[in-house]
Amino acid sequence: MVKDMISKNELIEQLLSLGVEPGGVLLVHTSFSKVKPVEDGPIGLIAALEMALGPQGTLVMPTMSYDDENIFDPKTTPCREEMGVVADTFWRLPHVLRSDNAHAFAASGRHAAEITASFPIDVPHGLDSPVGRVYALNGRVLLLGVEHDSDTTLHLAENLAGVRYRFDVRLKILKDGQPTWFEYQEVNHCCQNFNTMDSWLDERGLQRKGRVGHAEARLIRSRDIVEVALEHLKQDETVFLHPPGVDEECDKARASILERS
Ligand SMILES: [Zn+2]
Repeated sequence: MVKDMISKNELIEQLLSLGVEPGGVLLVHTSFSKVKPVEDGPIGLIAALEMALGPQGTLVMPTMSYDDENIFDPKTTPCREEMGVVADTFWRLPHVLRSDNAHAFAASGRHAAEITASFPIDVPHGLDSPVGRVYALNGRVLLLGVEHDSDTTLHLAENLAGVRYRFDVRLKILKDGQPTWFEYQEVNHCCQNFNTMDSWLDERGLQRKGRVGHAEARLIRSRDIVEVALEHLKQDETVFLHPPGVDEECDKARASILERS
């Protein structure tokens, strides 16, 4: 079936009726294959998001690369495979800023410089990080054709809850101008069970659902995501991990708790 082309004006109307607020801070995670076809493609979607947010608004997208072998360069490192074509188009636009490490986010608008300012590379999703700053600015998260397993703000909640699971990470960085391996531990797992957030948010009426382009869209306040996740994490630190034996990543995360306790 051929889907209708959605015009930029229709996209703006969809975004506003979903609850996107002019002047607000909006962190967008998107899968363009679910959204399309829209007028002017990925650029058209970005323009519609910026127009819905208006001149006082701030648009934010994750643009990290999982390429550990090559040193991250905010001006050249692509993120299309990892983050999709919209994010990879966004950071390349001349008015868009991008953070300077491999866990980079990109942003345009009023709070762009603040959100993309340098942050500790070994705590990519703490309070002092792009997702932490969106949270502090009372921003909203828009999931566009993706679910909460793409919702990076949940890693902020894990950090605030002090969960003990960690993966070993090794990244090549520039130190005093020299390529150097940097090793640290990062909160991680397969993230599939982040999708349990969907019903928890719906039960409390904290999530607006609608359609943007052809995609199912979810709009949630960053603070509501963190608050609801924290409640569950405080009762059970492993609430977002699969039961033992389902997948390697969650097993690894469970094992790392034992190592640290
Ligand atoms: Zn898992």
